[in-house]
Amino acid sequence: MGLFDVHAHLTHPKLVDRVDEILARASAAGVTTILSNGLNPSDNEAVRQLARRAPMVKPCFGLYPVDAVMLEMERLGVDYPRDAPAVSGDEGIAWVRDHVEEAFAVGEIGLDGYWVPEPLWAEQERVFRALVAIAMEADKPIIVHTRKRERRVLEVLDELGATKVDWHCFGGKVTLARQIAERGHYLSIPANARRHEAFTRMLQTLPRDQILFETDCPYLGPVPGEDNEPANVKTTLAYTAELWGEPEEAVLARTSESFARLFGVAP
Ligand SMILES: [Zn+2]
Repeated sequence: MGLFDVHAHLTHPKLVDRVDEILARASAAGVTTILSNGLNPSDNEAVRQLARRAPMVKPCFGLYPVDAVMLEMERLGVDYPRDAPAVSGDEGIAWVRDHVEEAFAVGEIGLDGYWVPEPLWAEQERVFRALVAIAMEADKPIIVHTRKRERRVLEVLDELGATKVDWHCFGGKVTLARQIAERGHYLSIPANARRHEAFTRMLQTLPRDQILFETDCPYLGPVPGEDNEPANVKTTLAYTAELWGEPEEAVLARTSESFARLFGVAP
């Protein structure tokens, strides 16, 4: 395999209308595999349709931790920029359960204490636990999003015994990232790493065989203010090679093996 992006949002309104040119640029940059992550049932369905017509796109179905409690957020009058109709946590869980066999991985899912107020954390965690259980039962890896709730996510995953995990765009302390790596989990580094101190330290100090690449496009691009896209994983590859003092081909081989190990595919 070539370069990969374990966390993209190709169905995002900013990208979806130009997805063919975005995929063409990704191919030209050497990207062969893009995991497009769904946020809620309608987005999961869009990811599913895209993956059917574009073989380099691998479908990941999830329920974003804010979408997991969207109805409750509306009821509490919490301000949040929504671009999909709100569904209940149970509807979101049911969609993933019904389609999990088609999923390359389950994601993105997790706990978010940045947007979601504390009174809703218990319900958010109930939904997260149910989604982790579905993934584990189907033997699918999990792609985790967490903000301000990193330690709790690790506690839940430990308790449930989940081991096939990628932590996307980890924003917690680097010491916690090391504990996560000790569990055998993976951490994916976004394309803005070069201008981001914590991602740089993670690249320098985490086990090299547990590092993956992602974009989180359209967010977190290497150039502030510009839409991100999967082709930009090549900038993270170049930066990682620099930091590790390894040729790019060696970093690509190493990270491809990590990808293959986590997702159960041939490198
Ligand atoms: Zn995301």
